[in-house]
Amino acid sequence: MILQKTLHALRTIIIAPTCPICGKRLGASETFVCLDCQLAAPYTHLWQSRDNTMEQRFWGIVPVERAAAFMWFTEGSPWRAMIHEFKYHNHWFLAENLAQWYATELLRTDFLQGIDLIVPVPLHWRRRLARGYNQSEYIAAGISSKSKIPYSFNAVKRSVNNPPQAGTNFIDRWQNIDNIFTVKHPEALVGRHILLVDDVFTSGATLTTLATAIRTACGGNVKISVATLAATRHLVEK
Ligand SMILES: [Zn+2]
Repeated sequence: MILQKTLHALRTIIIAPTCPICGKRLGASETFVCLDCQLAAPYTHLWQSRDNTMEQRFWGIVPVERAAAFMWFTEGSPWRAMIHEFKYHNHWFLAENLAQWYATELLRTDFLQGIDLIVPVPLHWRRRLARGYNQSEYIAAGISSKSKIPYSFNAVKRSVNNPPQAGTNFIDRWQNIDNIFTVKHPEALVGRHILLVDDVFTSGATLTTLATAIRTACGGNVKISVATLAATRHLVEK
């Protein structure tokens, strides 16, 4: 992470930063997304309401205290393209910047109140090695840097390198990813309120499985909340 950060710092000195959404050169007062794009961003505002549509996706499956995504993920959206970029093109710094911005908004509400620890959804070591990083760790680091809530990258491990799930339905996905997580350090989680973070919430199957694995390992003595950078609107609102 340190080497990647140093290289990124050098890059921003050499290349004038531009807005990743509209491509405009950023002004001196603008951080990674320009002010116009910040104003027009497809915010979900889900973090401002309890029992929201994303929380409802967990009902009857696993107890979740709070759940929210930052942006709606719609076909053809430049935000969708950006989130795709940081997953596949080494643009992890966009994930961290977006997460810091998200945390600033979360801190205006009570969403993060009582949360003790941030846990990113782990990648299988083989996929992490191939990609060079886990984007969710940068999301955790971004929220942590603003909120001062600590994170843990090693409490949970992904033990099965499940294949990409695009195109399968919810039940198939769920069965496909059952038992893929191993809780390595339940003692770090028991009795605490954990915030699970991921980039995109689609069916919720991955987060449901991870939350269930953590609850089981902690004998039910744990609280879980969920924050993602994006959510697919039609799936959340179905
Ligand atoms: Zn812009």
